[in-house]
Amino acid sequence: MAYVIGDACISCGACEPECPVNCISAGDDIYVIDETKCIECGTCNSVCPVDAPQPE
Ligand code: SF4
Ligand code: SF4
Repeated sequence: MAYVIGDACISCGACEPECPVNCISAGDDIYVIDETKCIECGTCNSVCPVDAPQPE
C-alpha cells in the first residue's frame, strides 16, 4: 500500500518538501511517489490543493 498521485496533480510542488521520507519527486507530467518508500502518512494529501494524492 502507498499513496499515488492522480491526474488531478497540477505540479505545484507543495507536497514534495512535506513528505517525511522524501519519496515525492517531479515526474514528466505530474509529481510521483516512490511507492516502495511511502509510509502512508497522508501529509501529501493534506497539503495538496487539488486532493491528487490518494491511498491505493
Ligand atoms: Fe510521503 Fe506520506 Fe505522502 Fe507517502 S503519504 S508520499 S510518506 S507524504
Ligand atoms: Fe501535485 Fe498536489 Fe503535490 Fe501539488 S501538492 S505537486 S498538485 S500532488
